[in-house]
Amino acid sequence: MLRLGQEQCMEVSAKIHNSLKIYKSAYLGMTRDAESGYPYEVCGVMIGEKDTVTHFRKCANLVADDKSETAFKEKGNIDSNRLKDRFELDPRSYIEADSWARENGLEILGIYHSHPDHPSVPSETDRQVASPGWAYIIFSVTRGKLADARIWYIDEQDFQFEERKFEVVKDSD
Ligand SMILES: [Zn+2]
Repeated sequence: MLRLGQEQCMEVSAKIHNSLKIYKSAYLGMTRDAESGYPYEVCGVMIGEKDTVTHFRKCANLVADDKSETAFKEKGNIDSNRLKDRFELDPRSYIEADSWARENGLEILGIYHSHPDHPSVPSETDRQVASPGWAYIIFSVTRGKLADARIWYIDEQDFQFEERKFEVVKDSD
């Protein structure tokens, strides 16, 4: 998961929204990604404006990536089970998604990732790398099928996750 510098965290901290709207096309695209990536954890970014997610971009998960697995093995600190329950969003895919968003007058509103065979509740690892101001949607996937989806924001005072509402809305163009 990408770690943001202090400055960027400050910059996004004003954007907490009580509830988030997600275009149906983006929601379906993300859930399909979560299902097709099963049994591995997938991740990506949600893009849009204000309180509405209009697009998503799948990002490479460095933890599930072969090359990075080799790198971790070289460091001697990976076992294959961990591929299922953690993710590290590839900074290159993040930068590409961010430039695409800016070119289209949009911005990154949050991160999505899947929890294969686990509930849509953030893990301690998720909490440690979370940035205030972003929405974190977690898709719980059971046997390859979407079981649940919940959205979380990190509270900048106590750095604990709080759940927020969201609704899937019709795309408008
Ligand atoms: Zn997670």
